[in-house]
Amino acid sequence: MSNNDFRVRHGKLYSYLETKDYGEIVFGCPPGIVKEFLRLKKPLPSKYIISSETFCDNLNNFDFEFIVYSYLFTRSPGSVVYAYCLPEQEKRFRSILNETLFGPRFDQLIESQSNKLLNEKCLNTKDKKNLRIFLRQNFAKNKTISLLFDNLLQEHSSQPIISKELQKFIEEKLLSKKKNILNTGIKNLPQKLTKIYQQCAQFQKELDLFSLTKEKDRNSFISKTVKFYHLEKSNSVLINGLENKRKKLKIQEFEPRTFKVFEGKVERCTVNLNHIASKNKKNKPKPIQIPFFGVTFIGVGSGFSSNKENSSVIIWSEGKGILIDVVANNNSILLNYGINKKDVNHVFLTHVHSDHDAGVLENLLEKRKTSVITSRVIYESFLRKSQALTSLSKKFIEKYVKFIEVEPYKKIKIPGFKNTFFEFDYSLHSIPSGRCTITYKRGETTKSISHSGDTKYDISKINAWYKKGAFTQTRKNGVLGFIWDSDLIIHDAGGGNLHTNYESLLHLSNKIKKKIFLVHQNGKPHPKSQLRYAIDGETIALIK
Ligand SMILES: [Zn+2]
Ligand SMILES: [Zn+2]
Repeated sequence: MSNNDFRVRHGKLYSYLETKDYGEIVFGCPPGIVKEFLRLKKPLPSKYIISSETFCDNLNNFDFEFIVYSYLFTRSPGSVVYAYCLPEQEKRFRSILNETLFGPRFDQLIESQSNKLLNEKCLNTKDKKNLRIFLRQNFAKNKTISLLFDNLLQEHSSQPIISKELQKFIEEKLLSKKKNILNTGIKNLPQKLTKIYQQCAQFQKELDLFSLTKEKDRNSFISKTVKFYHLEKSNSVLINGLENKRKKLKIQEFEPRTFKVFEGKVERCTVNLNHIASKNKKNKPKPIQIPFFGVTFIGVGSGFSSNKENSSVIIWSEGKGILIDVVANNNSILLNYGINKKDVNHVFLTHVHSDHDAGVLENLLEKRKTSVITSRVIYESFLRKSQALTSLSKKFIEKYVKFIEVEPYKKIKIPGFKNTFFEFDYSLHSIPSGRCTITYKRGETTKSISHSGDTKYDISKINAWYKKGAFTQTRKNGVLGFIWDSDLIIHDAGGGNLHTNYESLLHLSNKIKKKIFLVHQNGKPHPKSQLRYAIDGETIALIK
């Protein structure tokens, strides 16, 4: 046994141990770890030791999502990743993966979408409780109404027919025997329930297009991809030798984020994550000129692009910024552009994949109040995920978040702005995800910028899905439309199953193509590109 058989190397907020007999073992799990291994051109290791304390300097060290995505989407089927953690951390992991791999369960969608209904003034505490139980058990779980909706979509029934049929079913089959719900005094209850059901069922159809497994099989799906081993009472865990299974490596966390590694009784090395927590590379500042109305590209890459920051942009209006998605380490990135965080108080959270939401959590842990613009469904998913990531209570998290609710077909004026408006709609992705148009309008002047969010834009696929009954016609037109009228269009070009391929945008008219800036870039720009790839740090002013 030589010293070379146990070598500790340090990365950004993680360390990894190279061993001859046990393979590579990673300590810590920060955002960006997948990119770092891509940069090093090394295969992503399969063993991860999670510290009992998962945050270092308010930075998340529990970001397992992209490791799991890598194993699911880039490795051969059946590849397994190992997580060595506390039993309660496994529970938290599973909750996070539930939100990020599959999205909210159907009953959670129904409950989020019923928020207004559940808060109607006429309801007392008991009514609310009864209504919640009714929604969860009778409404969300009813198979017959679900089949009815499927059939109506397959027959391409018109919007009024779909509503009429659903409402008839709700009145006759679901409500007629439920006196305690009918007598609550809610006005137009069947109509309201019909609208809620239709929104959620349509949503579910779209999520199913990308679904990895059935709702009831989520847990076993996770178990097939991630094998969990628990650090027991002595805070230690055993790792078997790769070839000689009788050989055992014992890893013990003897202080938070500090581990000793033993082979038999012999201590081989120590891994200390505290050393690397505060090391932060300082880049040369590149201050930008803030426009009155325009955009700054903070990052333009996808979660798998090794040489680019994750996609995030600031839309400037009236000299103030709305950050679309917040990447990890966002504070130092913004400082680097000479941007004062005070000028960017609003965040539009498109969805809860960690390449988009990681920084919201950092703001929260720094106890900086952020206005989060998003839909109720996405916000509640974010709350569940943040609770699982941080173990903080919902109440604590909500103290530092000012939720600005948006929904499709409802333009709002953004609080704190005089002449700036926000329109929201859902994009097409594996979990609930949003897109938006932000408009500045004063007198004769109107300028707008739109953002596709993470989305699968592919006309032929969308038409084929429509034929199979995945959308109502209204929704199909919605998915294909909405953002093309803007003066500047920021579009996903991540490719693969969940993102738009560069080629899918080429049929658009030259007038539209000239306005497009591609983000969520994966790999090199297309040679002879007809569309513009956004550049990190670039600012475009529509009104100076
Ligand atoms: Zn995504
Ligand atoms: Zn993404």
